[in-house]
Amino acid sequence: MIDINAQQDTQLPLDSLIEYALKSNSFYMSYQPIVSTSNSKLIGFEALIRNRINDSRLRPDHLIPHLERTGQIIELGSWILKQCLVDYKTLESYGLKDFTMSINVSPIQIIDHDITIEISNLINELGISAKNIKLELTETALISDCNKIAKSFERLREMGIKVWLDDFGTGFASLSLLRQFKVNGIKIDKSFISNIATDNDDFMLCSAVIAMAQRLNLELIAEGVETPQQLQILNCLGCENIQGYLIDKPLTLRDVINKWRS
Ligand code: C2E
Ligand code: CA
Ligand code: CA
Repeated sequence: MIDINAQQDTQLPLDSLIEYALKSNSFYMSYQPIVSTSNSKLIGFEALIRNRINDSRLRPDHLIPHLERTGQIIELGSWILKQCLVDYKTLESYGLKDFTMSINVSPIQIIDHDITIEISNLINELGISAKNIKLELTETALISDCNKIAKSFERLREMGIKVWLDDFGTGFASLSLLRQFKVNGIKIDKSFISNIATDNDDFMLCSAVIAMAQRLNLELIAEGVETPQQLQILNCLGCENIQGYLIDKPLTLRDVINKWRS
């Protein structure tokens, strides 16, 4: 960890800090395993951005919304996309087979910039099967610029890339939007999972979302699973895949190779 602020009298402004982080190659991608609920078999990974600089303002929850406001998410998003796909090939070269890579994408990367061509070029160049790539977008993406997003989703679908709705239940997505955009899967937000064993409302909500996904033929992942009890409930409810600290935290590429290769 680099403590950049310790070298200054005052805290560096966020934009200068980001510029420094970009120039010094301090960003890297971490990968959190996603496994099958019933038998813990590895399904794939979700890519989450990390930074070697010790400053809480660079944590994703703070950093990503800031980059979306300034438009810099387009530049960093391109880097993220490429890095995830290059790392995918590295994992394959270490013997991991037929796993998926879920990449978080900001709506701005679709609305103000066409990532479909970028992804198409990268997967062709690297020889990656499109069916193993999943893009995660939050519900806000579906209500920002409907026509443009719908066209991009169509193109991604034609390419074989899957589109997932992230943080399901926290925003304003309606059932009709799920159908209109033909998303492949939904992720139940960790805020609903954390109290699934103790709060009846959260339990009912999760069971309703799982039943709905099954009826609409949508794939499903529950995120933020931390206890065996949460896992057991999700398994009983028929939620097919999970991720969370119970299985593993987001790992460096090296740790993924060491822990998940076999
Ligand atoms: P998200 O996509 O909903 O990601 C899940 C967050 O939950 C991640 O936080 C992950 O580290 C954390 N998490 C995973 N398992 C557990 C668990 O068992 N318990 C708890 N309490 N937390 C868990 P992180 O990495 O801080 O990311 C926060 C948000 O920032 C992400 O939420 C996503 O919206 C955004 N983000 C992260 N990386 C990227 C990226 O590469 N691109 C874009 N556009 N957004 C990103
Ligand atoms: Ca996500
Ligand atoms: Ca979430």
